[in-house]
Amino acid sequence: MPLIPEAVPEHAGGMSDLDELLTANRRFAATDAKDRVPAIPFLPTKQVYLLTCIDPRVDPAALFELDLGDAIVARTVGGRVTDAVLDDLAWISYLHEVKTPDAPWFEFAVMHHTDCGSGLMADPDLRAGFVARGFDDAVLQRTAVTDPARTVPGDVARILDAKTVSGDIAVSGYAYDVATGLVTQVVPPSSRNAAQSG
Ligand SMILES: [Zn+2]
Repeated sequence: MPLIPEAVPEHAGGMSDLDELLTANRRFAATDAKDRVPAIPFLPTKQVYLLTCIDPRVDPAALFELDLGDAIVARTVGGRVTDAVLDDLAWISYLHEVKTPDAPWFEFAVMHHTDCGSGLMADPDLRAGFVARGFDDAVLQRTAVTDPARTVPGDVARILDAKTVSGDIAVSGYAYDVATGLVTQVVPPSSRNAAQSG
């Protein structure tokens, strides 16, 4: 028997959510926001590089009242530091050293949050089904964020230990509480070079 799909939800004027976004983009393009951003090689207006979760409740632009061009933002499941995050940071480090050697360094902030969906990876039954799709059980288990205060320090240390990343970058760690909207510091800023010279 063929499956009969449920009626799709009606959108205003028959528009999909993405259509609405594209309409909003026309309005954005008509403003001068795009003309008030740093030129390449880019130094963000606020000299910060943020790593947060992909969770839509953890959008740094909203949490920190950021404008276009203010910050470099990376987002992963849980806001965890992955090899890809380190590779990107290595590239930006290189670019900064070669293209803007006299400019001050940006700070890097790792932020994990409460009620994170990655915490579901701590459930062995749920994880087992995903492992059966070819993923590594130990990696998944490590990715789960159940308490930001416990996972943030290790991720900060992973960046500070990465030799491909500039030792001049100050790295700090934070926890965001989705219930209160407040960000609290878990690990104060430090850099590899400052630690070695001090
Ligand atoms: Zn999350």
